[in-house]
This record gives sequence, C-alpha cells and structure tokens, in this order.
Amino acid sequence: MPTSKKIQPVKYVSALQGAIQAKCPRCRRGDIFASSTYSFTGQKMHENCSHCGLHYEREPGYWYVSMFVSYAFNVAEMVTLAVATYLLTGSHSPWLYVGILLGIIFLLSPFNYRYSRVVLLYWLTPGLNYNESYAEDRQP
Ligand SMILES: [Zn+2]
Repeated sequence: MPTSKKIQPVKYVSALQGAIQAKCPRCRRGDIFASSTYSFTGQKMHENCSHCGLHYEREPGYWYVSMFVSYAFNVAEMVTLAVATYLLTGSHSPWLYVGILLGIIFLLSPFNYRYSRVVLLYWLTPGLNYNESYAEDRQP
C-alpha cells in the first residue's frame, strides 16, 4: 500500500510574533540573526534567509536607516527612564539621572541594535511583505 504524504498547512506567524522572534519578514521562518540578543560573541546577521533566500540588506547602505529607528528607541527609553527615575526617587541630582540613563541604555544597546533592524525590515521597507508561498516547505 503506497503511503500518502500529508501536506501540512503552513503555520501562520503574525508580523508581531515574527518580529519578536527576529524571523525573516518574507517567510517568517528563517532567522535574521545567527546569535541571540545578549550573546557574548556579538550579534551576527545572516546575509540571506536560510529558508527563502531573501537578501536582508536590500540595497547598499540599507542598514544606515536603522540608526534612525535606534535613535527613536533610545529617545523613548530615555524619556521613560527619566520620568520613572523622577517618580521613584524625586531626586533633582543630574548625576543620578546621567548614571541611570547611561547604564540602562548601555544594557539595552544590543536590544536596540537588533530590533531597530527588525522594525526596519518589517514595517519600514516598502514592498517587503509576508508571502505564504515562501513560507511553505521546499520540495526536495
Ligand atoms: Zn525568508
């Protein structure tokens, strides 16, 4: 009796879920980064998606735009931290704010690096959308 191969439907991954997991924006299956956010070896990116082959750097200098996203992340984090520091301590010492902000921003810099690129790929790149046909398993 011949065995019939069941075709598994592609599990849909939402854009938010794919972005949090730093998956390819086109197929949402291949990893964008080769290492974790807080890896001691640094953050290495794959040049192409391991599943669909998408080249992540869309054009020369593409990653410079992620600096603006990272800047927005930093401003939002610093304002939030400054307000939280004021509400929690009530202090007027500028050294307390400088110490806390620089320390936390230093700790968050790997997060900002990673997710500024993910946000750029997912939501700020025209014409780069999820395509279910790329998410399907490749034929052997
Ligand atoms: Zn892909």
